[in-house]
Amino acid sequence: MYEQLKADCLEANLLLPKYGLITFTWGNVSIIDRARGVVAIKPSGVKYEIMSADDIVVLDLNGNVLDGKLRPSSDTPTHLRLYKEYPNMGAIVHTHSRWATIFAQAKRSIPALGTTHADYFYGEIPCTRELTSAEINGSYELETGNVIVETIGNHDPLHCPGIVVASHGPFSWGKDAIDAVMHAVVMEEVAMMAWHAIMMNPSLVKADQVLLDKHFFRKHGPNAYYGQK
Ligand SMILES: [Zn+2]
Repeated sequence: MYEQLKADCLEANLLLPKYGLITFTWGNVSIIDRARGVVAIKPSGVKYEIMSADDIVVLDLNGNVLDGKLRPSSDTPTHLRLYKEYPNMGAIVHTHSRWATIFAQAKRSIPALGTTHADYFYGEIPCTRELTSAEINGSYELETGNVIVETIGNHDPLHCPGIVVASHGPFSWGKDAIDAVMHAVVMEEVAMMAWHAIMMNPSLVKADQVLLDKHFFRKHGPNAYYGQK
């Protein structure tokens, strides 16, 4: 019944170790089927090398398991919170990839220092506030979703398809799974580039806004002209 969705979810999860974003079992990808109102997500704590499509868990938006024998990722409430808030999110990726996590642990946004960043992310990739003790001791994973929503505010999440959660790590998303994984890969790369650029020039804040606008809007929005029709 959910074979294609589970196969797509497995394929997207396997891209994380392929692109070097994952150590052990850290990280997860989910995909939503909006027409059916169901989400497919990686099972909790299963090694990527032995994961099969049958291990993928399918849930409704309230977290009720519809298909699958294993427990879903412990981060599932974070994913569900974001899908409910943002109808244009089609897939979500969470990793502890090294460079993006360094920014998360430093509690710093990833500044927009060049065109690689601006091709995919409009403006800095924000860092959330830290969770309070009550939030950590309460519904922790749901509160992680809440603090992401709080940080995105009124912005279109697809204009800046990623965030770093303070003292934790990056989340990214996209219109589909390939898009969301690509944003995780780009975020890791631009975080690494930004750290080194700041080391070489500590006074850096961001690249010229005209240049950043040019690169983002030639690929996104009504006047985009980059790539093939
Ligand atoms: Zn995590």
